[in-house]
Amino acid sequence: MFPATPERLRLAVAPTPLQLLQRTSQGLGTGHRIWVKRDDLTGCAASGNKIRKLEFVLAEALQQQCDTVITCGGIQSNHCRATAIMCAQLGLRCQLVLRGEPEAPADGNLLLDQLCGAEISLYPAAYYTANLDAILREKQLACSEEGRRAWIIPTGASDGIGIWGYINACRELRDDFRDHEIAPRHIVCATGSGGTQAGLAVGIEAFELGAQLTAMAVCDDVQYFQVKAAKDIAAWQARYGVWRGTERVSSDIVDAYIGPGYAKADRHIYKLIAHMARTEGLLLDPVYTAKAFYGMLEEIQRGRFGEGGDIVFIHTGGLFGLYPHKAHLARELT
Ligand SMILES: *Cc1c(COP(=O)(O)O)cnc(C)c1O
Repeated sequence: MFPATPERLRLAVAPTPLQLLQRTSQGLGTGHRIWVKRDDLTGCAASGNKIRKLEFVLAEALQQQCDTVITCGGIQSNHCRATAIMCAQLGLRCQLVLRGEPEAPADGNLLLDQLCGAEISLYPAAYYTANLDAILREKQLACSEEGRRAWIIPTGASDGIGIWGYINACRELRDDFRDHEIAPRHIVCATGSGGTQAGLAVGIEAFELGAQLTAMAVCDDVQYFQVKAAKDIAAWQARYGVWRGTERVSSDIVDAYIGPGYAKADRHIYKLIAHMARTEGLLLDPVYTAKAFYGMLEEIQRGRFGEGGDIVFIHTGGLFGLYPHKAHLARELT
């Protein structure tokens, strides 16, 4: 039996629209139609995919009577920004452990973290990577010494609880497909901490969407994401009960479009962002969605998605990630 959905907080503005990209589809010349699941519209400042996971993760933190949330990510983490906003909304203390070098003045997501009163600790990349678990534990311990109770959310809220966010989103996709009278054979998303990918892969089977998931990596390689998704799904089963359908769960992972590295982009990515903004009014971001969208367009031309048919791109948000890249984007405006 499929595990019962646990309690969640209603944080996301959902259901989000599923929209056809008419001009982009026509321009392909392959007969495919590209639909966008607008999870960039799950909120205003707290928009994007992370809020779907936080509905479940923060529900658990509150159930555990925590008054503090500790989480981590890159200096421009969308997940940390969404967490900071939701903590302010719920009256929780928020501590962010960030990877990167000091930025002054703060821009994009970091500015919003600060505005929402998150307590920020910033570490250089090498130190952060080598010591992340110890740093998080230390902060949790310091909280308990003050008589507080802290919940640690892992990177991207991708764990056995967080993947419920995109399992649950597949219920919405099932209704979208019914309303639009489509039966897409392919769903495409960006993958970074793996939880969106793992949740979609499980949800596609659970709600019998009949589509194949393709996850476009923005860091790390195919093997990393195979292991990470399997780990999150195993943790999910350990917590909520074994589901035999997991034997059929699969995702194709593509790691050919990472470019120069996480949060770094080549010129064709900035060009695509400007093009999609002008032609569709769709704002992609240089860290996740533009790379995934670019990869999808390339793979359509290479035949990965067959001849024609409907493809659904999950727009996972990331708008505020545009601002720290403003100098690169300005070059594409002329
Ligand atoms: C975090 C993020 C992703 C990747 O989702 P994961 O669940 O971490 O793999 C994709 N797009 C945006 C905009 C994100 O912020």
